Parts: sequence; structure tokens; C-alpha cells
Amino acid sequence: MLQAITGWHQDEEGDWVAELACGHGQHVRHTPPFRQRAWVLEENGRRQFLGFELNCRICDGDDIYLVDW
Ligand SMILES: [Zn+2]
Repeated sequence: MLQAITGWHQDEEGDWVAELACGHGQHVRHTPPFRQRAWVLEENGRRQFLGFELNCRICDGDDIYLVDW
């Protein structure tokens, strides 16, 4: 189910977690060369993704607390 990003926070390891409109969270990691998301490290980049819709797998029924986008 698509859910808009409403905010961001960092987990205890410093990885960024998108807060979704449904109340779930989703990790958005920058882990080159697999995931190139340097924008998530920049406040500007994160702000540009506010309102962006991610597919929330928890809403879709995945039985996990936190998933990776
Ligand atoms: Zn959700």
C-alpha cells in the first residue's frame, strides 16, 4: 500500500528511517554499491522526499517491524 513520507528519524545505528503516513517506518539506507541514496544523508534530500509515496509492506501484511525500502 502506498503511503506518503511524513518525516524522518535515525535509528540507534544512525540509519535513516522514513516515517510513513500510516505510522509505520521504513529504512532508507545509503549502502553503496547496492543502494545509491546519498540524498538521504542530506537534510535537503530528505526534505525533497517528504510526501513521496513508498510501498508500505507492513500495511500489505508483512509480519515485520521495520523493512528496507
Ligand atoms: Zn504501513
